[in-house]
Amino acid sequence: MAGKSCSSKLLFNGAVTSFDRFHEIQRQLPERTSLLAVSKGHRAAAIRSLASHGHCDFGESRLQEAIPKMNELSDITKIRWHFIGHLQANKVRSVVQKFDVIHSLDSLKLAQRVSRIAGEEGKSPIVMAQVKFRIDPNKSGFSEPELLEAWFDLVKLPNIHLVGLMTIAPIMLDLNQRKTLFKQCRDLADKLDLKECSMGMSADWKEALAAGATWVRIGSGLFGERHK
Ligand SMILES: *Cc1c(COP(=O)(O)O)cnc(C)c1O
Repeated sequence: MAGKSCSSKLLFNGAVTSFDRFHEIQRQLPERTSLLAVSKGHRAAAIRSLASHGHCDFGESRLQEAIPKMNELSDITKIRWHFIGHLQANKVRSVVQKFDVIHSLDSLKLAQRVSRIAGEEGKSPIVMAQVKFRIDPNKSGFSEPELLEAWFDLVKLPNIHLVGLMTIAPIMLDLNQRKTLFKQCRDLADKLDLKECSMGMSADWKEALAAGATWVRIGSGLFGERHK
């Protein structure tokens, strides 16, 4: 896009989104893969700029941080908000009211709660099950056996649309190992007949893409360093 090559030097200025990076990432994504712009740690103004370039999908991981930004941006009705953080039971109602997609359903109990509250709220959120493919007690998510065990109960739940799996590669894995892990996620999604795989962040989205991601979640690689 001629005339828009202005912003790489402004990348670390919080109010300005790097349109160069945005277009560069978009250019590399195939048809089946969407960009989730992870706006946590960035101001509403950065979201507004990117939305003015036609982007609609934004990810936040903390409800308290997201709400004031959503309020500030309520005039932009085309924005789809994605919740990507650990979802605490007492936040489910607000998240169901305010978000369109939840990437981080990490237990059957949570899924049942989301389903019930979505029914009460007259909502039907799109959801993904968060899976961890390596043992990590500090990370939430289903292990693969846990997911398979919960599967028949999960797919029965009303008021939610379970469309895919989400995973986060453990930090200690190198890029090749991450690609293997992402492939595991893609294979499991295929086995369960789920279309979506939300995987890959700034450091590893190309590996995720190669393994069959349909959503890459990119924050710092798009907006620059987070403010907080
Ligand atoms: C913060 C976050 C991202 C984006 O991380 P970057 O490394 O800044 O791209 C993606 N997914 C989840 C779940 C996150 O919490």
